[in-house]
Amino acid sequence: MKPTKNRHPDRLAGLKTWARINSPWVLHFNSGSCNGCDIEILATLTPRYDLERFGIKLQGSPRHADVLLCTGAVTRQARSRLLRIYSQMHEPKFVVAIGSCALSGGVFQGCYNVLGGIEKVIPVDAYVPGCPPRPEAIIDGVVKLLSSLKAPQGGDGTAAHASEMVEKLVVEHEHR
Ligand code: SF4
Repeated sequence: MKPTKNRHPDRLAGLKTWARINSPWVLHFNSGSCNGCDIEILATLTPRYDLERFGIKLQGSPRHADVLLCTGAVTRQARSRLLRIYSQMHEPKFVVAIGSCALSGGVFQGCYNVLGGIEKVIPVDAYVPGCPPRPEAIIDGVVKLLSSLKAPQGGDGTAAHASEMVEKLVVEHEHR
């Protein structure tokens, strides 16, 4: 039988991007944080901030995750685990460094057992500064990452819509 030729490669790629932008599954990894940033990530996942409205869902396995949320400076002990988890994720995969320590080593910079920020070990796609960053900043970082993914042709502007939602969330939170 003659193999079927894909007559609409652009549409298929657009559909994949649309699905990825609308349903990014995330994995959280602490490579040496003081737990402050981790608590903020957990707060972000609670119904108060309702990250799931963007289709963002926490996953327990790197094989099911699209986005790796990393906190803390990378310690010598955590380096191999971070590399292993990153290698187990399927392409295309994205990394968000959360907190000053994940960006540069932060307050742990220069310690004998600290290698530095996440990008010393794996490539980083988005950075969320702060010590620790607030949930709104974490949501903004993830949404900006999604916005940077190419929107499908003729798409519904989901990433732009998500940015609007974050702005609304910040305003709502300020008025509480
Ligand atoms: S950025 Fe601040 S809260 Fe986050 S791991 Fe570093 S010291 Fe802790």
